[in-house]
Amino acid sequence: MSGKTTNNEVREFVCICCPIGCKLKAERDGNTVRVQGNTCKRGEKYAIDELTAPKRTVTTTVRIDGGELPCVPVKTKDPIPKDKIFAALYIIKHTKLDAPVAIGDIAVSNVCGTGVDVVVTRACAAKNVRKE
Ligand code: SF4
Repeated sequence: MSGKTTNNEVREFVCICCPIGCKLKAERDGNTVRVQGNTCKRGEKYAIDELTAPKRTVTTTVRIDGGELPCVPVKTKDPIPKDKIFAALYIIKHTKLDAPVAIGDIAVSNVCGTGVDVVVTRACAAKNVRKE
């Protein structure tokens, strides 16, 4: 498999697509990328993406109003472009959800126009209010 690129470059890194962690070598030569060391096609695609359009899953926390916890963990449902990570973190930092929240609830929809939602990964019940 090869991918279109513009520069010449050689990089070695570990595939993070599964626990095996194959050691990959990706050579960009003109408009093509050659990948060695991968055991499967996922590793080849990962290496090509790393050289042409790297992406990462973002994990962080978001504040909760009226919850038993002050914040809950969240993550992007899919990886987003690396150059959007800081902008996404800024948006998430300024987001506040109302309790209760459930796993899978959308905290931020279409973060930074990536088409990827940020979702809650831990449930949080509403804080009990005492009645006098
Ligand atoms: S190349 Fe395939 S087998 Fe190797 S770490 Fe990546 S996903 Fe796993």
